[in-house]
Amino acid sequence: MQLFHSEKCACGKIHDAGFDRMNVGSGAVNTVAREVIRLGGTRVYLLCDENTVKVGGERVAKLLAAAGIPVKSCVLPASVEPDEAGVLAAKGRFDPACDLVLAVGSGVVNDIGKCVAFDAGVPYVVVATAPSMDGYASNSAAMVVGGLKVSLPRRCASVLIGDTDLLASAPDEMLIAGLGDMIAKYVSIAEWRISHIVTGEYYCERVAAAVREALATCVKNAKGLLSRDPAAIEAVFEGLVLSGAAMNYAGLSRPASGMEHYFSHIWDMRGLAFGTPVALHGIQCAVGTLYAASVYDALLKVNPDKDKALRAVRAFDRDEYFRELRAFVGPGADAMIEAENRDGKYDPAKHEARLSVILDRWNEIQTIIREEIPRAKEIRSLLASIGAPTTPEGIGQKRSELPLTFAATRDVRDKYVLSRLIWDLGLTDLANARLLREN
Ligand SMILES: [Zn+2]
Ligand SMILES: [Zn+2]
Repeated sequence: MQLFHSEKCACGKIHDAGFDRMNVGSGAVNTVAREVIRLGGTRVYLLCDENTVKVGGERVAKLLAAAGIPVKSCVLPASVEPDEAGVLAAKGRFDPACDLVLAVGSGVVNDIGKCVAFDAGVPYVVVATAPSMDGYASNSAAMVVGGLKVSLPRRCASVLIGDTDLLASAPDEMLIAGLGDMIAKYVSIAEWRISHIVTGEYYCERVAAAVREALATCVKNAKGLLSRDPAAIEAVFEGLVLSGAAMNYAGLSRPASGMEHYFSHIWDMRGLAFGTPVALHGIQCAVGTLYAASVYDALLKVNPDKDKALRAVRAFDRDEYFRELRAFVGPGADAMIEAENRDGKYDPAKHEARLSVILDRWNEIQTIIREEIPRAKEIRSLLASIGAPTTPEGIGQKRSELPLTFAATRDVRDKYVLSRLIWDLGLTDLANARLLREN
């Protein structure tokens, strides 16, 4: 896989992956003691949960013991959440004599590991147990603070170990989630390019190309994923790590996250506020990708109409919409509304400026959609081929709520995504008709 370190790029940035090394392949876990020693670790705080201790934690402890490295272990409950209590539980048992944190796990254990290592000011290593999400190389930790989901700035592990023999023991749904988080990149990359046109946001073709290539390798190997073909497992793990690296290269989340992630974000927020069902991140992103692709399909047939767009914006009742948003996503809406009061994306003058660029460059925008995003029916058959859900009901959501979910994604962050393009074009009805359609 293509990784770049501290290289000056044509885009003007110096790209840095954010981590030193990635050891991937069959038996990669056997490098763990060597890596600990290389990082100067003499006493290791080993963080697992009740599941990952069996999958890899005990093995790692033995490998370290064999190398003469003392270990203080902390096994978190399997139900541990990525919140203050989870981090406190892990920090509470930290032995200050430890000079390295080593986590064996995936999402939650890795996020908690990042926080413990950060607060202790020591190096951090992760041995992955599931290729289920792209947070391995991410320099932030996904946490729930005060009932809200936030990204805390935390360094990713210096060394990422992805042993395909361990990763292959992950349950089907985690493998499906990992591929789902990769398929999401079709939309992320397209929207990065579209935003570059509409808002002038920074874009790097080299970073986009690296993600595109990793995604293509995942899709090419997808049929072997559930039968644990090592090439398929390796492709997904490497793709997820590269996606995290790509965000570090770009200094923003664009290369790995767009509209499809915002669908997932709204489902997470509603889950926290109202206890509605929440599926694995990557599985939600997969379904979000399908519905984003379906609306993008519709845009390929659109000839934008300036007057229609201006009329729709004049008719938009911001206060009424915010009331709906509050009722739909719960207390998290307050931060979204506050952000909009700063950003002013619904401001008619700003809208008109964006609309004029969209109209001038509509052909280019359609070309990007065609180049980057497969048609929805192709995405649907790809998802079906790996046993991923292809309907909102498949992840416990109601189809009738998709239009409001879609609208709410406009306010997740000040980031130009599909739902904002639809609003700018005055095409909410067209998008809603697509979202509500059975197939
Ligand atoms: Zn670049
Ligand atoms: Zn993701």
